[in-house]
Amino acid sequence: MTTEQLANNDETKKSLNFIEAIVEKDLAEGKNSGRIQTRFPPEPNGYLHIGHAKAICMDFGIAQRYGGVCNLRFDDTNPTKEDVEYVDSIMEDIQWLGFRWKEVYYASDYFGQLWDFAIQLIEAGKAYIDEQTSEDIAVQKGTPTQAGVHSPYRDRPIAENLALFKKMNTGEIPEGAMVLRAKIDMANPNMHFRDPIIYRVINHPHHRTGTTWKAYPMYDFAHGQSDYFEGVTHSICTLEFVVHRPLYDWFVDELKNFRPEDGDYRPRQYEFNRLNLTYTMMSKRKLLQLVNEGFVSGWDDPRMPTLAGLRRRGYTPESIRNFVDKIGYTKFEALIDVALLEHAVREDLNLHAKRVSAVIDPVKLIITNYPEGQTEMMEAVNNPEDLSAGSHEIAFSRELYIEREDFMEDAPKKFFRMTPGQEVRLKNAYIVRCTGCKKDAAGKIEEIYAEYDPQTRSGMPESNRKVKGTLHWVSVEHSLPAEVRLYDRLFKVENPAEEKDVDFRDLLNPDSLIVVRNARVEKELAQAKKMEHFQFQRIGYFNLDTDSTDDHLIFNRTVSLKESKKF
Ligand code: ATP
Ligand code: MG
Repeated sequence: MTTEQLANNDETKKSLNFIEAIVEKDLAEGKNSGRIQTRFPPEPNGYLHIGHAKAICMDFGIAQRYGGVCNLRFDDTNPTKEDVEYVDSIMEDIQWLGFRWKEVYYASDYFGQLWDFAIQLIEAGKAYIDEQTSEDIAVQKGTPTQAGVHSPYRDRPIAENLALFKKMNTGEIPEGAMVLRAKIDMANPNMHFRDPIIYRVINHPHHRTGTTWKAYPMYDFAHGQSDYFEGVTHSICTLEFVVHRPLYDWFVDELKNFRPEDGDYRPRQYEFNRLNLTYTMMSKRKLLQLVNEGFVSGWDDPRMPTLAGLRRRGYTPESIRNFVDKIGYTKFEALIDVALLEHAVREDLNLHAKRVSAVIDPVKLIITNYPEGQTEMMEAVNNPEDLSAGSHEIAFSRELYIEREDFMEDAPKKFFRMTPGQEVRLKNAYIVRCTGCKKDAAGKIEEIYAEYDPQTRSGMPESNRKVKGTLHWVSVEHSLPAEVRLYDRLFKVENPAEEKDVDFRDLLNPDSLIVVRNARVEKELAQAKKMEHFQFQRIGYFNLDTDSTDDHLIFNRTVSLKESKKF
């Protein structure tokens, strides 16, 4: 992008995050010939979660904003944990978020080039085969304050290293029997320089390369080089990789020694703070455990922090992108209040969700002075935030359902809902005055009675009369039964990742899902499409679940209207 294009770019008028500032500086200095190339590098060993969304918005966002490209690269270097199911879900989720990659690459595409580079390192005396156990290697590494000890295999002749490395790939070497290590510096204060393992044996078929390979590169050896082979300029990742950066650069330097023709091109790694959310676990390993052990219904369980789960729950891509925008990128770890994410989806759905009536915990309200058998069609505005969304009709009749919690027989002064002697407005319909109720032997309210004032039909002058409370309702005869799934936070503690002494499964919130089977919804919802968003008035935002059928409507609560609401 030229400076002039930059100046005219509306996006640049927003304040820059620190990585964007780096990119602008690199562009101004003409680094890498003014090319901007990023990648999003997921390991296909699980579904993407909201933390990945933060990385995706950064990687794709930088490319978009500066006229560069962002590729999708699967970091598929550990075949025992990876699967095509994950590859497919990752591609679906990125697109759903609203981003498009230029190319799809796989680290496994580079296994040949990485192998050749490893051979070059061995031939240069910079890598050796170690036959010690991983425990011995770990002990010899030393501590940050104490130098490590040289492996007895460190000075093995080059020819022997070459022969053994080839053997590592034939299948005759059992897993763990030998590894290839870079020969760097066992006394380096950066532990990653203490002869890091760069290849190991895995005798498990790979989802793309089958049984071609038995020797697999480690993450640190594959990542930077894959960046290099693709021409990545800005390799953006999270802060835990800061300590890996010197090693990233070391490998790139070594690789460049063998490729003088590449000039001064080089990829550089930059790190931002990962997203941590309250009441949420983001480790893929733990999420997999929740799925495998049946604590949730699958990766797309609406309580999961996965993009598939959030989507099913009713989150919109816009709400997630807005949330990421709001929390921003820094160089300091932080714990973000999940209420911010909930706020973002509320804000977006407020603009777009159709308002409908649903009663979650119904109790009958009989309008005793309303003619039996009569029905009136009332007008209900679809969205007061967007009048172009029009309106629909809702049937009013003598027998209605209202929310059980909206009635109190002996109410305190400040209770502005249904209570004997008090007037209350029925949304889009009439003002009614409660006259009493009927209880069963146990004292449970069975029916509530009220009288309506015919002069107060919605729209008539008398309807403007001052009445403090407005209630939602549906007509008994004209409503449909529905199942409603009320979700709460999956974990009951604020920072489950911090609770090191407790099994994380014991931290699960036992009330994270409450299934209500006897809710009633207005007839309009017979036409609802799967995943369509609604506001159940006075309650919250809901969507029609993918399991829903014409005979059995199922709604998920995306988020309640206000943080404190019971429903
Ligand atoms: P694991 O849970 O197995 O450690 P991971 O979450 O690091 O894996 P990857 O597939 O390696 O998953 O991540 C792909 C990219 O997403 C990486 O660049 C990583 O830095 C980024 N990423 C992962 N988790 C977060 C997070 N919570 N916040 C921001 N970025 C993240
Ligand atoms: Mg990772």
